[in-house]
Amino acid sequence: MKMILDEYEYVQKMIKEKRFLDKPMSSTDINILAKYYRWCEGLTGNKLKNEVINFCEKATNIYNDISYESRIDYACNLSKKLKLRVPKPVYLTLTEIDIIKNIELNENIKKTLFGMLCLSKYYKITSIKITKNENEINSDKLYYNRPISDVLMLMKIRLNKAQRYGLMYELQHSKLVNARYNGNYEILFYDTIGEQKYEIKYIEDILMYYEIIMKNKENLTICSKCGKPMFVYNTHKNRQIVEPVCKDCKI
Ligand SMILES: [Zn+2]
Repeated sequence: MKMILDEYEYVQKMIKEKRFLDKPMSSTDINILAKYYRWCEGLTGNKLKNEVINFCEKATNIYNDISYESRIDYACNLSKKLKLRVPKPVYLTLTEIDIIKNIELNENIKKTLFGMLCLSKYYKITSIKITKNENEINSDKLYYNRPISDVLMLMKIRLNKAQRYGLMYELQHSKLVNARYNGNYEILFYDTIGEQKYEIKYIEDILMYYEIIMKNKENLTICSKCGKPMFVYNTHKNRQIVEPVCKDCKI
């Protein structure tokens, strides 16, 4: 399933552009739309259903009542149990970072571990389930419940099938994660007591945060206003930039 980290932004784009972003009549898109109309516009029952249908009629010419009624009913029902996923910052502790830094494994494994840690925390704190929410958020266990391809994509790690198996083998043998029977991973180096030292404000940029936090890359820094990672274009080598500001904040 498609990875959508910020569902609010996603649905805003759908509505603004009056089109499906995934594919016409995509279940993913319809589910998000129904959640938006319920939780942000306060619609329920037939009003909710009609609004979803209304969008579909305008956004695609393949919509018809007969073929798609059950899909729309499903989305409306699902929206009772799930909210819209909206972004929240993720925090990492010094211990977690030190563990990844010091493990004697190749760069791809380190990146994967970093990405799994960030994404698991993100999905945990932005949990959209109506029930059991608190228990899950407060649990001292952390699980990576997404396909491994999500983390590889965000960390820009390109592997063939054999290399991917190799990576998963090494992950398991790192003893930092534990593959579970259902295909999830438990993150064993999750630290619930350490000081929350590093802030990941924009989850889609985790690769840049990785370069900054793990490697102190000179050409990268974090915007002092919005917290977004940014490139430093500095022609004068020794000039210190006291307060870096990204181009969006520079107005
Ligand atoms: Zn900024």
